[in-house]
Amino acid sequence: MAAIPGNVREILKTLEAAGYEAWCVGGCVRDILSGRTPEDWDVTTSALPEEVLAAFGAGALPTGLKHGTVTVRTAAGAVEVTTYRVDGDYRDHRHPENVTFTRSLEEDLARRDFTVNAMALGLGGELRDPFGGRRDLEQGVLRCVGDPDRRFQEDALRILRGMRFAAVLGLELQCETAAAMEKNRALLGEIAPERIQIELVKLFRGAWAGRVLEAHPGIVGVFWPEVLPMVDFDQRNVHHCCDVWRHSLAAMMAVPPAPELRCAALLHDIGKPDTFTLDGDGVGHFYGHAKVSGRMAEGMLRRLRFPNEFRERVLRLIAWHDRDIPRTDKGVRRALRLLGEEELRLLLALKRADNLAQAPAYRGRQLEIDKGEAILERLLAEDACFSLKQLAVKGNDLLALGLRGPAVGRALETLLNKVVDGELPNEREALLEFVTKS
Ligand code: ATP
Ligand code: MG
Repeated sequence: MAAIPGNVREILKTLEAAGYEAWCVGGCVRDILSGRTPEDWDVTTSALPEEVLAAFGAGALPTGLKHGTVTVRTAAGAVEVTTYRVDGDYRDHRHPENVTFTRSLEEDLARRDFTVNAMALGLGGELRDPFGGRRDLEQGVLRCVGDPDRRFQEDALRILRGMRFAAVLGLELQCETAAAMEKNRALLGEIAPERIQIELVKLFRGAWAGRVLEAHPGIVGVFWPEVLPMVDFDQRNVHHCCDVWRHSLAAMMAVPPAPELRCAALLHDIGKPDTFTLDGDGVGHFYGHAKVSGRMAEGMLRRLRFPNEFRERVLRLIAWHDRDIPRTDKGVRRALRLLGEEELRLLLALKRADNLAQAPAYRGRQLEIDKGEAILERLLAEDACFSLKQLAVKGNDLLALGLRGPAVGRALETLLNKVVDGELPNEREALLEFVTKS
């Protein structure tokens, strides 16, 4: 078992030396037992918050006293130390009315959401696991601590956390847990959109995200009802062997786990049910679906308060997903100009995945994408110009020629467009001559 890091050991030792119990708890214990590297280490202790503050003096900050949390600063980063606690009644499906501190580790573990999150690890390597979290991890099962129905009614965010842990850890939802998630899903409507968004982003990264979403579209449909018409929507088109929902999930799982890319893949065809038409031969078409998908996705991302940058990137990827792959120098330079290198690479990944998620006979597009990618690599290696930063002429050069105000910006844009289109070389003399003559 991976060792507890030195700074966390020091915290446990300090608390034990002062006469209290102290354990690593929650996500970090789950992660090391499943061979992952914990992102952060949380400590739980029998010491009351003021006792923790006293034990660490100036190194401790009362960051969440109401919930019993004190942040201890260490050279290797901050560690949250939380007093054993029991949650009071939940009245709004979100937050306990009050919390009370306890001196019992078992009581603290019992308030936690899933068995795999309800384990504590001591300094000497001792594991406290009253709910069988270790066995569940080994057997690949995600199970609530206690009665699932009650636990999801207390705090509905746990429904989405459950999907997230299943997606990230590759766990199967235990059947009563899964049934209670579905039964109580409408309660997610009472959860703050920002909190749903945070869980969703973590879920998108999961290597098993497709499987979990496929099993539970109804839960997603509580905050994103737009996904529901995709489920089982027959495309009636030889290019496709899956309904829109399964095609979208297949595309989502075929892109790298960057959340924007996963999200764009999930939503790229969401406008398909609304744009469906059947021609005289009984073939389905979705004219203009990229535009409609973009409009719908914008509303969905705004509703969950995704950051502007995230939203704008997803919308650009959706808007471009249905365009031809650029396969000429000029086409790739234009795409670079409009998207930049990073985003063009994301777009190529999305196009690759979109094509891989089509019917096997129509996956030949991969070769076109290879070609676009090869041009991209060559242009980058040649230091091709596709942004104002790379243009051989700057604003000052144009001021020196007597241009003023907005005319400077306009001239720079014109020059860049001509260079990108191959009509002018990216050379100072030639560019200045063009400006003088026009
Ligand atoms: P990660 O940090 O990887 O997102 P985590 O399991 O550490 O996962 P946190 O949100 O950091 O998740 O919470 C730490 C621990 O607190 C959890 O492992 C769980 O024991 C408990 N916990 C967090 N949120 C809830 C909740 N809504 N209901 C019950 N217990 C919770
Ligand atoms: Mg954590």
